[in-house]
Amino acid sequence: MLLIDTHAHLYYDDMYNNLEEVLSDAKLNHVKKIICIGTDLDTSLKSVKIAEKNENVFATVGIHPHDSKDVPNDYLMQLEKLSSSKKVVAVGEIGIDNFRNHSPIDVQKKVMVEQMELAYKLNLPIVFHNRDADNEIFDILSNHPFHKALSHCFSSNLDFAKKLISQRIKISFSGNVTFKNATNTKTVESISLEDFMLETDCPFLAPHPYRGSKNEPKYVLTIAEKVAEIRGETLEKIALSSTKNAKEFFNI
Ligand SMILES: [Zn+2]
Ligand SMILES: [Zn+2]
Repeated sequence: MLLIDTHAHLYYDDMYNNLEEVLSDAKLNHVKKIICIGTDLDTSLKSVKIAEKNENVFATVGIHPHDSKDVPNDYLMQLEKLSSSKKVVAVGEIGIDNFRNHSPIDVQKKVMVEQMELAYKLNLPIVFHNRDADNEIFDILSNHPFHKALSHCFSSNLDFAKKLISQRIKISFSGNVTFKNATNTKTVESISLEDFMLETDCPFLAPHPYRGSKNEPKYVLTIAEKVAEIRGETLEKIALSSTKNAKEFFNI
């Protein structure tokens, strides 16, 4: 069995200082490929470095909505430079976050759109973050071209999932599918096998029953098991389809 963690932030100290162990634990749990996601210029560079050192790790480069207020004037040029590494497979994570509002909404939108334009020019997919921002996200995606797009840590309702899928956007489920108060169970249950992938978003958001402890790529297995249970399908079937989707999406 082969699973892929499509969203991990491996550069946080706890994981970074034990990276060999983290990667081998992942492998023991069938998680054999990992996409390390940048959130600003510094962590984008770190993601590229980790990917260049580890065959089965790939990187994205991008500015998270939280960090969009802090970008230097030449940030697009710097992202483009970083993306020249063969291990860079997408621009992300970009997006809108109306929950924490660390950056003003107009700045978040501007920086998201500019990075979409960069991804389009570089022929790369985008990975986007959406927290309480269904309308803003859909408006931006409807008005700016993209090659491929992935809605990471999907937590909106089924109607919104269908809206995204109708625009050929893929969805990724995280540990939040295992929570008692999960808001996305209907989506997990009813969207087509071709439309979703799996992720941990580690070190955040460890799945039940590990909630509150450190999250790591190995827990994609726990998430896959829960998705299989909700859908009434075998774990093998979920692994096969989610891995195929991730390989095609990221071209890995
Ligand atoms: Zn995110
Ligand atoms: Zn993330």
